[in-house]
Amino acid sequence: MTKLDTQLVHGPAVNDNCTGAVTTPIYKATTFEYPEIGAPVTYDYSRSGNPTRQAVENQLATLEGGQRAFTFASGMAAIHAALAIFKAGDHLIVGDQIYGGTFRLLYQFFARWGLEITAVDTRDPQAIEAAIQDNTKAIYFEPVTNPLLQVTSVRQVAVIAKQHGLLTIVDNTFLSPYLLKPLELGADLVIHSATKYLAGHSELSAGAVIVNDPRLADRVYFVQNALGGILSPEGANELARGIKTLGIRLDRQIENLVEVVKFLETRPEVQRVYYPGLPGHEGYEELRQEAKGAGAVLSFELSGAVDPVAFVNGLRLFTRAVSLGAVESLVELPSKMSHTELTSEEQLAAGIKPGLIRLAIGIEDVTDLIEDFAQALDQAELVTTKGSVEDDQTTAIN
Ligand SMILES: *Cc1c(COP(=O)(O)O)cnc(C)c1O
Repeated sequence: MTKLDTQLVHGPAVNDNCTGAVTTPIYKATTFEYPEIGAPVTYDYSRSGNPTRQAVENQLATLEGGQRAFTFASGMAAIHAALAIFKAGDHLIVGDQIYGGTFRLLYQFFARWGLEITAVDTRDPQAIEAAIQDNTKAIYFEPVTNPLLQVTSVRQVAVIAKQHGLLTIVDNTFLSPYLLKPLELGADLVIHSATKYLAGHSELSAGAVIVNDPRLADRVYFVQNALGGILSPEGANELARGIKTLGIRLDRQIENLVEVVKFLETRPEVQRVYYPGLPGHEGYEELRQEAKGAGAVLSFELSGAVDPVAFVNGLRLFTRAVSLGAVESLVELPSKMSHTELTSEEQLAAGIKPGLIRLAIGIEDVTDLIEDFAQALDQAELVTTKGSVEDDQTTAIN
């Protein structure tokens, strides 16, 4: 019989594969036993491989039509890992409307490590061609951008990339594999901020990289293991749970979004709606060739008759928050929230006017969402006609 201090450390034998558990257990073990020296092991150390993480990585690889997936502690950690496969002196072409955090990573981090970067409007194949240099290695972009929902064709970029021996890297956060499968359209690496639609409940930070080519997979795996920005077993479990409802969440979110757009288009205060998922909207024809839908983020511009700050502050059901992709509806004012790193001139150059509002639609009853809009618009209009913010607003908008 072993003594107490030994028993404290050695519990009853672990035999967790015989439980019949319907979901993958959360394997918190950081190290795994070698049956004997020299025996082959699937797992030896949790940073290098963990069964709970492996399960969700397999799930993601299948969903994106890839061979292997790698998950990380955040979307930025995933992007860092994907871009860390390059070396000093390599040149990347990147979309000029990509996520702000990705810009920061490229220009304030990777540039210091010798990556060269050229930002172009990836909707324009000639602009891409013109940016290609001898040392160009990849084209990185988002098929639907934030906050103006500009559409870039994955197929079109992948064709150019292949002609020049470049990798195509797609941040698929906004659409998710439920709506778009970039690997099937010729992309080489797919990236996710799984914090958004994949996890879907505003309670998990996670990221993923999915690839098809085994040699590329080895390069990403090397970085995942070497840098160590892995998703925890608990995180992997939550991500796996979120993914199970991705389809029904997005179906409802898009259904709701369509009703919200119909309502917005009846209101004279709404000047323009950006959403490439509906006929007549910019990007619709391009996107429908490749995607099953445009997701559940949209933006719109308020006319100068309504103060955008008063409107956003007046919403009761929509939560004023950045991020997107979760079950609850969120609203944000890019000029004062997500895009404050840009000066007002830079904002205007990027098409972000003071009256631009971004919505991420959730799964609530849409009649409540629309009622919330109606009351906030009426309220904001009252405030504006009273003149409290009028001067500021008219100059800002014009
Ligand atoms: C949020 C987001 C990221 C960054 O992901 P985090 O999980 O916040 O690190 C990257 N790309 C896009 C398109 C995003 O929306």
